[in-house]
Amino acid sequence: MTRVFNFAAGPAILPEPVLQQAAEEMLDWHGSGMSVMEMSHRGKEFVSIAEQAEADLRELMGIPANYKVLFVQGGATLQFAAIPLNLLRGKKSADYVNTGEWAKKAIKEAKRYGGVNVAASSEDRQFTYAPAQSAWKLDADAAYVHYTSNETIGGVEFNWIPETGSVPLVADMSSHILSRPVEVSRYGLIYAGAQKNIGPAGLTIVIVRDDLIGAASPLTPSILDYKVQADNGWMYNTPATYAVYVAGLVFQWLKKAGGLAKMEEINRAKATLLYDFLDQTEFFYSPVDKSDRSLMNVPFRLRDEKLNDEFLKQAKQAKLLELKGHRSVGGMRASIYNAMPVAGVQALVAFMREFQTKHG
Ligand SMILES: *Cc1c(COP(=O)(O)O)cnc(C)c1O
Repeated sequence: MTRVFNFAAGPAILPEPVLQQAAEEMLDWHGSGMSVMEMSHRGKEFVSIAEQAEADLRELMGIPANYKVLFVQGGATLQFAAIPLNLLRGKKSADYVNTGEWAKKAIKEAKRYGGVNVAASSEDRQFTYAPAQSAWKLDADAAYVHYTSNETIGGVEFNWIPETGSVPLVADMSSHILSRPVEVSRYGLIYAGAQKNIGPAGLTIVIVRDDLIGAASPLTPSILDYKVQADNGWMYNTPATYAVYVAGLVFQWLKKAGGLAKMEEINRAKATLLYDFLDQTEFFYSPVDKSDRSLMNVPFRLRDEKLNDEFLKQAKQAKLLELKGHRSVGGMRASIYNAMPVAGVQALVAFMREFQTKHG
């Protein structure tokens, strides 16, 4: 068996000990004689898995008791609709910050349900920076303020939390949740698809403050109504049981690794290795403003774009996979989530250095 270093943006790399444990428990989970995939979501075995997963996530992120944690389906994309449906609460509009491809999709979907005020945008410079708070034109009467705290495609990360007064702050944290500690109490709602930095695709995590639940638009499908999901312990219908189980193994792995402060330390070290290399060569470059560079998704470009195909071909031979940038922006992108070992980033930098020597 040969494992590669997988730099995909999502679905993405998972910690090897987690995959091993899942393999060992595949046919018989803890003497139950069943795979987790075969269990009733209402049986005591799966309920214990679900409760443990939620408790571990609460512990890792320090989620206060007045927040509900929901393990739902439909991806972050379905939340683009669920959020206005649940949170507009009779108000006319919400504020959105436009920082790139994912923010644009969130805005487009929200417009189906209410007004959208684009409070700030970084489109003027091709989404290569996070607009400073001083440039945000917030509406005091907005139902909520939505931003994408890490733009997976552009590689732009907010390293500060926006100040929105009494208007609830909503964050799409899909691609950097669990990469570092976060002050949950500053948010009204946090959501994330699991397949970037948590676990398998098919699971979406919603963390929502109690007072924002219970006033969904009457048109809201039951399954998207946070109150319905909260009242039913996020099992109004069958949840993505196996994805919840693997996410739970990842939470255990994170706890053993030292929690989110430790992850941040490691993630900073990994990202620094790569960005420092990009900054000291003329051959490659990072298009993103230094202060707003993502620790998780690192887009980079070759000055000579004619070498792109050759770069990807040789990288693959070196067992460094999925380095092609998103089709909407081109270039390269290395996603270096929690599960990417330091050795993977070291191998990438060594490869890039060698490629430059050969072709520079
Ligand atoms: C991947 C991603 C999404 C979309 O996630 P799906 O699970 O495919 O719906 C939304 N927002 C961000 C920031 C993402 O990285």
